[in-house]
Amino acid sequence: NNHNPGWNFDHSYAKLSSTFYTKLKPTPVKSPQLVKLNIPLALSLGLNPNQLQSQESIKEFAGNKIPQGANPLAQAYAGHQYGYFTMLGDGRAILYGEHITPKGERFDIQLKGSGETPYSRRGDGRAALGPMLREYIISEAMYALGIPTTRSLAVVTTGEKVIRENVLPGAILTRVAASHIRVGTFQYIAAAGSIEELRELADYSIKRHYPEIEWDENRYHNFLKKVIDRQAYLIARWQSVGFIHGVMNTDNMTISGETIDYGPCAFMDTYSPSTVLSSIDTHGRYAYGNQPDIGQWNLARSAETLVPLLSEKEEEGVRTANLALMGYEKAFHDYWLTNMRGKLGLYKQNSDDELLIQDLLRIMDKNQFDFTNTFRNLTLDKPKDSIINGVSEYGEWYDRWKVRLENQDKTKDEVHQMMRRNNPSVIPRNHRVEEALEAAVGGDYSVMDRLLEAISKPYDYTNDQEEYTTVPEKTDKCYRTFCGT
Ligand code: AMP
Ligand code: MG
Ligand code: MG
Repeated sequence: NNHNPGWNFDHSYAKLSSTFYTKLKPTPVKSPQLVKLNIPLALSLGLNPNQLQSQESIKEFAGNKIPQGANPLAQAYAGHQYGYFTMLGDGRAILYGEHITPKGERFDIQLKGSGETPYSRRGDGRAALGPMLREYIISEAMYALGIPTTRSLAVVTTGEKVIRENVLPGAILTRVAASHIRVGTFQYIAAAGSIEELRELADYSIKRHYPEIEWDENRYHNFLKKVIDRQAYLIARWQSVGFIHGVMNTDNMTISGETIDYGPCAFMDTYSPSTVLSSIDTHGRYAYGNQPDIGQWNLARSAETLVPLLSEKEEEGVRTANLALMGYEKAFHDYWLTNMRGKLGLYKQNSDDELLIQDLLRIMDKNQFDFTNTFRNLTLDKPKDSIINGVSEYGEWYDRWKVRLENQDKTKDEVHQMMRRNNPSVIPRNHRVEEALEAAVGGDYSVMDRLLEAISKPYDYTNDQEEYTTVPEKTDKCYRTFCGT
């Protein structure tokens, strides 16, 4: 027949030593139905959206049929989960392979929720519809915000139930990623592999993600520096939009610098550094304000795995690793400051800028301001009184800010443009996400589609987005996200 959605698989990962994976097929499901297809993403991958909606493709998204050229496997990895080291691996995911786009870009195509694997431990290998749609929404929002992220190509329901706290409809997400190599992949090989395999993984990762350093004499040192820099950049971007990942275990941190594994993640409404939205993060390890430090902690675990490659002498290797790690704090701080300057329309760099920014954040925290709307209102340049809303210390801050803006040779319009580029008008607010998921799980996808439309242009400030800028009646103080479903 003429089934040809345009898959063009290659298998560089499967050519690595077999320690890195287990070859196996997804477990077929009862009656797959396509509920979501990401048409713009499909087009950008060189795939045919019509073909992707065919019965044959739906079977492929469900794992009932293997796409032409795919070579399915589950990847091995380990990780520090809430600080404790564990051997893990894809317990409910299958990598079909790497799709090469017509432009020659390489993307992992992975099914999530595709059945048990040797790495499943006690899990059933499945996923529920709500959380898979949640990953779809939040990852697409992150993409639209310009933040490095894995993406979501399709969601199919399985026609099977999954048993969690409740009985839920099962689903499978097709995830697209620069790769699924994690800090935890290195940890797995450091724990269970040989030094040759560790070098194999490092060389592979360099070739795939940092080809510019492939021929450097000290390439493993430079590789570590690159990984650190990308994470510093990524976490600074998260902070700048109020994104809380929620489960920054080392197995959920990529080597490519993409955001991955959208579980209990969420955007914060009311600004508070101590905000925790995940129901299982009882100690607040992954609170908004802790994300930069946790990034550093995770990178230290990453650096440890590379020590044997950094020098033949362990002491020397540790010294080099520490040297690289020392760069994180400054890199993060520089990226953070650049982001925050952008949010306030500050063009040139003043030594007082950081104080101005910190003072605003302190006022926001103390007065429980909405994070996104505070910057949105400043961007819209509404009259001062309506912005400061009777908060006198905010009024004083506002005047300082306006003086700072006048002391740069930029027009009002230039300031506005810069602020618009850095301050999203719409984010997927928790109450809107919940509303969309509830309707979708009940069979009505129109609420989710409208939300996706609004969050796909976060910097456009159009009138029809206005309804998504309102904060929930109850604050998200009581809002909780759940993971592992
Ligand atoms: P996560 O917290 O989603 O990043 O997952 C941590 C580990 O648990 C990974 O190895 C997952 O593959 C595994 N896992 C999560 N949910 C399930 C499940 N339902 N069945 C089997 N493994 C799972
Ligand atoms: Mg194997
Ligand atoms: Mg994970």
